[in-house]
Amino acid sequence: MLVIGLTGGIGSGKSTVAKLFAAKGVPIIDMDQIARQVVAAGQPALAQITREFGTAVLDSDGQLDRRKIRALIFESAEKRHRLEAILHPLIRQETQHQLTELDTAYCIVVIPLLLESHQQPLVDRILVVDVPETLQISRTMKRDGVSAEAVKKILHAQTDRNSRLAAADDVIDNAVELAKVRDRVAELDQQYRTMAEIAD
Ligand code: ADP
Repeated sequence: MLVIGLTGGIGSGKSTVAKLFAAKGVPIIDMDQIARQVVAAGQPALAQITREFGTAVLDSDGQLDRRKIRALIFESAEKRHRLEAILHPLIRQETQHQLTELDTAYCIVVIPLLLESHQQPLVDRILVVDVPETLQISRTMKRDGVSAEAVKKILHAQTDRNSRLAAADDVIDNAVELAKVRDRVAELDQQYRTMAEIAD
């Protein structure tokens, strides 16, 4: 099966584009959702994380406190690597498991940090949703009710726009109205179906 990795910076429109593909009957695997799933209460990863980092990373319900863990890994690259060493193999494993359950010509895997977390081997093609930074900032501010500074901080911790575009096999320009994006998705859907057929 042809696996398309869909990526883009915060607020670029990954979820929006994924929904447009889903409307065409394309299965969507969301790696962010899987990342949350593997650290849910009762999952082995959570026990491993508390062994490494202590129970201070849990909230009062025994769930992983994402804010605390984010603060922890922001201050120390070494801690970030330790956390990633626990999580990445589990996330990859669950993604691969979900891929084997599918029976379609192609599918989309939404991987927000595809380039940052070196997930290229998992996908056959990289599809980048692209908008200028100013639009990324204004759309995220509106969606999340956060300040421009807060968005910029996240944005600057991510791969920059040019590197993302350089890694792309296909690009969706999302600085246009939704109807145009839908047309572009229809075009790519055709392209992927043809590619999957030829490879079959
Ligand atoms: P991501 O999943 O990459 O963080 P979203 O798909 O949530 O981004 O898009 C960010 C915000 O911008 C959302 O509120 C979404 O509704 C809006 N948006 C996305 N694409 C467009 C578009 N082409 N025109 C107008 N608004 C858009």
